[in-house]
Amino acid sequence: MGRKPIIAGNWKLNKLTGEAVAIVEDIKAKLDTIDSANLPEVVVCPVFTALQSVSNILEHGKNIRLGAQNFYYKDSGAFTGEVSLPMLKDLCVTDVIIGHSERREYFSESDEMVNLKVKAALANDVTPIICVGESLEQREQGITDNHITSQVKKALDGLSAAEVCKVVFAYEPIWAIGTGKTCDAVEANRVIKMIRSVIADVSNSGIASSVRILYGGSVKPSTIEEQMAQSDIDGALVGGASLVAESFVGIITGSMKSRV
Ligand code: PEP
Repeated sequence: MGRKPIIAGNWKLNKLTGEAVAIVEDIKAKLDTIDSANLPEVVVCPVFTALQSVSNILEHGKNIRLGAQNFYYKDSGAFTGEVSLPMLKDLCVTDVIIGHSERREYFSESDEMVNLKVKAALANDVTPIICVGESLEQREQGITDNHITSQVKKALDGLSAAEVCKVVFAYEPIWAIGTGKTCDAVEANRVIKMIRSVIADVSNSGIASSVRILYGGSVKPSTIEEQMAQSDIDGALVGGASLVAESFVGIITGSMKSRV
């Protein structure tokens, strides 16, 4: 199959710098005991204020990559309070989360803004991790597939096939985020396959089969093996369980056990 799994930790608005450094030291020490051929790609996404300190302790190019939870799509200028991709790259950030449901809901991040951010990330050679997912209400109304199809198409609008190839998606049903309720693995796989077919429609099937699509929503060490045993789930975007080194490493190692 050839799609290398990715396990990304989204720490949201948590951890002071010292705490962030301590947890990364712990994750790093645990992963250093494992042959890197047996590891997925691992990304940690701390708050902005911890990025520099966490960056200082990562051996870039080795087991753990540094991600950011947000950025502004312009490189510089009169945009008070914002942080740009060149600034993040200056700290060795390689990945950025875009369109997380919390940003869409609390900070009005629109599909158009998601698209601008995806284009900016690609132009800066940073990997966009694009989040899509339905609310409980949308699921109950039976419009999950239509809603996600629209989010995926709008996120990829105007991208060349070569650019589509470089994006990562995370399917995150909103009702599963931070609730302890995971989406049934077979259903998550069905939605992820559907996302892959939308990607094929806007590019081609070869590219669609190479794009990594993660699942996110209350992933734990006890759920990851079943999730990774599915044909199209290529890893996880992890919130709560990424805040503790032991559970995050449990997810990282578990992700490689059942990979099909
Ligand atoms: C997330 O923040 O993207 C997430 C999936 O959170 P949790 O794992 O806590 O549900």
